[in-house]
Amino acid sequence: MAIHRLIKFVDERLLNQPGRRLRFGQRLTPGLIRRLQRQGMNRTVRYAAKHSRFYQRKFKEFGIDPRKVYSHADLGNFFTTAADLRNNPVEDFLCAPPEFGFETTGTSMGVNKRVYFSYAEMQHYGRDSAAGLYNLGVRREDVVADGFDYSFWNAPFTAYYALIPLRCLHVIGAFVEPKEFYERVKVYRPTVIMGVPTHIVRVTEVAEKEGIWPVKLLLLGGENLSERTRRYIESVWKGARVVLSYGQTEAFGANGIECPEKHGYHLDDLNLVNEIADPDEDGYGELTYTTLNRQVMPLIRYRSADVTRWAQDGQCQCGLQLMPRVARIAGRSDELINCSMGNISPYWFEEILRDIHDVTDDWQVIVRRGDRDDRIEFHLELRPEAGADEVREHIFRNIEERFPDCWRYYQKRFFEFDFHYHAPRTLSTGRKLRRLIDARRDAWEQ
Ligand SMILES: [Zn+2]
Repeated sequence: MAIHRLIKFVDERLLNQPGRRLRFGQRLTPGLIRRLQRQGMNRTVRYAAKHSRFYQRKFKEFGIDPRKVYSHADLGNFFTTAADLRNNPVEDFLCAPPEFGFETTGTSMGVNKRVYFSYAEMQHYGRDSAAGLYNLGVRREDVVADGFDYSFWNAPFTAYYALIPLRCLHVIGAFVEPKEFYERVKVYRPTVIMGVPTHIVRVTEVAEKEGIWPVKLLLLGGENLSERTRRYIESVWKGARVVLSYGQTEAFGANGIECPEKHGYHLDDLNLVNEIADPDEDGYGELTYTTLNRQVMPLIRYRSADVTRWAQDGQCQCGLQLMPRVARIAGRSDELINCSMGNISPYWFEEILRDIHDVTDDWQVIVRRGDRDDRIEFHLELRPEAGADEVREHIFRNIEERFPDCWRYYQKRFFEFDFHYHAPRTLSTGRKLRRLIDARRDAWEQ
C-alpha cells in the first residue's frame, strides 16, 4: 500500500511534465510493468468487490475470490460486456461519487451506455495522453485547434486534459460547419488540428480550395480512418502527419495512440490490462481490458467489441516502445456480418474501394435478403463526371484480386451485388456514418 502511495506521489508531482514522463516511461522494464499490472489488477478487483453492487453479484455468481485475482486468467470465464452497462443501473457500477458523466457513441442503436469519472481521473489520463502527444512532437509553442463535438461525448475533454500539461495555446472550434471551422480557426494558425475524420476531411476540402498554412500534425480519433483518406489529408496539408488515436469512452478515449511509425496503436499498459479475447486462427479477437487507477467506475475485463490483433511487425523503436501495440481496428464485433459473401467487416469494403477515386470516402453497404440469397447493396457517392459503369467494373476487379474466395462465391451466384449511386456529401447526416448494416437482422428485430 505504501508503494502505491509513493507511485501516486511520483505520478502527480514529479511526472506531471510530459517530456519527463515519457523519458521515465522509457526507463521502465517489461518485468516492472508486468508487476505493476498484477498489483493494479488485484487492487482494482478487491476495490470493485468492496464498493460495486454489480461486481459483488458477479464475483459471487462466478465463484471468484477477489483476493486471488492478479490477471485476466484468474477471472475464468468472467467478462464485463456492453450489455451489462446497458442493462444494469449505472449506480451498480459506481464505487465513489461521480463528478462527470459521458455517453458512448457506439454504432449500435438503442440505449446509450453511461460512463462516470472524477476530475482526478481525467487529470491522470491527461498526464499520460500528454506524454503520447509529446512523443508525436507536440510542444509548448504549438497552437492546437480541436473540432470535437461536445454533446455527451468525452473526446473534447480527453483533448483538453491532455493539453493542460503541455501548456500550448488551445482553441476550441468544436463541431461547427467545416467552412466556418476553417475560417475562424485559420486566424490562430494552429500547428496541430484535432477532430473526427469525417469532419476534418471536410475541413481539408475547404483548405484545398482556400489555402493552407503550416500544420505539423492532424490528430484524429473517434472513428476509423482509411489509409486512402489519411493520404488525401496529408496531401493537402503538405508536410503534416495524420495520426490516429484510439479510445473508448469507457477508458476516457485513451486506450492507445499511434506513434510516428503509424503501424497500429500503442496501448496504455500503465492504466489498462489488455487482452485479445477469443482470437481466431489469424490472431484477431476482441480487445478486452481492465481499467487500473479508477475510483468512480472501474471496469473489469471489459469487452470493447473492437476486433484487432497484436501487431505482427516486431518491436517499435519510438518513445512508447514498451507499450504493446495492436494492429488497426478491423471492425466492431457487432459490425462483423456473416453472410453469403463471407464474414465481412467494414475493412473489406475499405480494401475494395481503396484506389477508386471516382467515389467519395462516404460509403455504406447494406446486406439484404435477395431473391435467392443475400444481396450486398453498395451505396456510393459518385464524384461529378465519374462513370457508374467504370466504378462497378473497378470494384469487380478489386474483389477478384483482393478477395478471390469471395469472387468465386459471386461467380457461383451464392449472392448478388446491387449498386446505388448518390450525390457527394449526401450519405452522412449524423456524426458517424454506419458503414455496414445487416438489414436481414434488423428486419428480424423489428
Ligand atoms: Zn511506436
